[in-house]
Amino acid sequence: MMRFPSQTPRSLFSRILRIGIVATSLTIVIASLIGFAYALWPQKELVASGFANPTSATAVGHGTENIGLLGAKYGNGKIPTNELEEIAPGRKLVPAAAEHFIQMKKALHKDGHELQVNSAYRTLAEQERLVKRQGLLSDGGTAAPAGESEHGLGLSVDLKLSSEALQWMETRAGSFGFKNTVQGEPWHWTYMGDR
Ligand SMILES: [Zn+2]
Repeated sequence: MMRFPSQTPRSLFSRILRIGIVATSLTIVIASLIGFAYALWPQKELVASGFANPTSATAVGHGTENIGLLGAKYGNGKIPTNELEEIAPGRKLVPAAAEHFIQMKKALHKDGHELQVNSAYRTLAEQERLVKRQGLLSDGGTAAPAGESEHGLGLSVDLKLSSEALQWMETRAGSFGFKNTVQGEPWHWTYMGDR
């Protein structure tokens, strides 16, 4: 019987070649699907660290700002009042700290907590009076020497907080750039920005 070329049995080489081509194509398709899935997967770690959260301090845009600038420019406790922003009646901070404080207070309120600002920026004279009244930290008191307090830089607040509000601050304040910077003084919170 006569055979046409299309009917000739395929050689071993041509079979291996076909299997090779099919295997390569499948590998490319699977690799592409894995790549797509990975790209579309929610990035949980970024969300948890606050970088993907638009309300976090790092995303607001003050990250690169030199927040200690006003204290450095005028000196501790010597910042002019008109350079400061009010966060509560008679209580002021430098603008970046004030803006983040107000955002933080709003978030705290939204979660059903309250806070009261007992102290914020302090002039040199105010810090001197406080030292006389409360004593220096080094002598067992609660006041930093005039010219050395974080309050003189317009970055710190002393807050009256319920235990629930304090707990909230401990978990959330960091995302607004605030940190409890004096051990044993859970009321003292300082705006750290990106430092
Ligand atoms: Zn303080």
